Amino acid sequence: MTAPEGSARQNGAASVRATVEAVREGRRTPERILEETLSRIRSAEGGPSGLHSFLALTSGEASASAEASAHGRGASPLAGVPVAVKDNLVTLDLPTTCGSRFLEGYRSPFEATAVRRLREAGALVVGKTNLDEFGMGSSTENSAFGPTRNPLDLDRVPGGSSGGSAAAVAAGYVPAALGSDTGGSVRQPAAFCGIVGVKPTYGRVSRYGLVAFASSLDQVGTFGRTVEDAARLLQVVSGFDPRDSTSVRTPVPDFLSGLEGGIEGLVVGVPKEYFPDSLPRSVRDGCEEALERLRAGGAVIREVSLPYTEYAVPTYYVLAPAEASSNLARYDGIRYGNRASGARSLQEVYEASRSQGFGREVKRRILLGTFALSSGYYDRYYGRAQKVRKVIAREFAETFERGVDVLFTPTSPSVAFPLGERLDDPVRMYLSDVFTVTANLAGVPALSLPVGGAEGLPVGGQLLAPKWEEARLLRVARSLERTFGAVEAT
Ligand code: GLN
Repeated sequence: MTAPEGSARQNGAASVRATVEAVREGRRTPERILEETLSRIRSAEGGPSGLHSFLALTSGEASASAEASAHGRGASPLAGVPVAVKDNLVTLDLPTTCGSRFLEGYRSPFEATAVRRLREAGALVVGKTNLDEFGMGSSTENSAFGPTRNPLDLDRVPGGSSGGSAAAVAAGYVPAALGSDTGGSVRQPAAFCGIVGVKPTYGRVSRYGLVAFASSLDQVGTFGRTVEDAARLLQVVSGFDPRDSTSVRTPVPDFLSGLEGGIEGLVVGVPKEYFPDSLPRSVRDGCEEALERLRAGGAVIREVSLPYTEYAVPTYYVLAPAEASSNLARYDGIRYGNRASGARSLQEVYEASRSQGFGREVKRRILLGTFALSSGYYDRYYGRAQKVRKVIAREFAETFERGVDVLFTPTSPSVAFPLGERLDDPVRMYLSDVFTVTANLAGVPALSLPVGGAEGLPVGGQLLAPKWEEARLLRVARSLERTFGAVEAT
């Protein structure tokens, strides 16, 4: 059997496991791996047809390698593994811009917990990846520093908002990367780039040092070329963190030990609302093929209904902008980031700094959110959206209680679209998230993996599980991945 058409290229960085083994056995050193990775990235990134997946690369090769030597030998789970980090996770050695002019050159005085845990596990943070400004977008075109291209077709978007991380993995620069997912920003770019992307249960991974977009929805997620690589990164970043009040003190199971356990007797629910008549042929075919393979692997396929799905996008686009308008109030031109010059009053500092610093989409969200929260409208929009969110979460919980082990859906209603196609049509852009925002609203874990493709463009299939059941999600994904003969975990 062949790998799904358009799935990530097999060249480039070695897998996480192969890298760790090579380092442990002394066949490769972290210093050398870092050097090779950086030169691979530098030669392919720049120029007009470069991917532009990175906003900053580590230059402190000496310091990074010192760090790698300290942690990167012996039994460290990510010894010498090069990883990319979305530029909305704060880092000490590299600037954090969130893809915004507002934070151009900004340096954080502390490091995000997820990044710190990667480093402590021996990983080499090679750079910070491009994103839609503050995570707002589905194509990485809303970055103030220019878009990222899809490595599988340079005229198309890599998806977003974590498009830089997805492109860096799909191009083979690094085996794995971190992103963040508020409404689909890990899963949708994973689907567009033909790789694996996991959004864990809300509270599984610390948000400390993840620059806030919509705090009740944001979650750090992982990318890998394989399920195993994505799982290895997730293993390291998961777990309670006293610095994040929404991080949950619950045990982190071993995500790897059960990975090859198969799916005999597992019930896979297929919600009919995720397969509308308008679904493009290639997406439908890829998903149907995947369901066939799940059945052949011993799973029971059961049609289910989640009738509130149609309200998910409107609910998300009230709640996310409302939270964003509140979170982004901190960019005032006083404390950090852009400060407009020549302002004559405090009010003018605020107005000019924010007018210059934020891009169009961010301003649109702030306006939408401020309106939804304003007196007289609060109950009509925000209050009502909160209620619908509860109903959506309950609908998922009840479906799982009725014996459905996982749900399977398309990740996005389309494959990667051409650069520029949706920039002037925000509602169309928002609709790329119809199948992904529900997991964030419900707080459940979800994963995207390549399930086929047409004309070189991959199709992503999404799996969703009950809260805290990432291990199940990964096992089902691995079982499906194996049927494609894809990407042997070498
Ligand atoms: N595309 C969605 C949005 O623009 C989701 C973004 C995300 O998950 N960060 O809000």
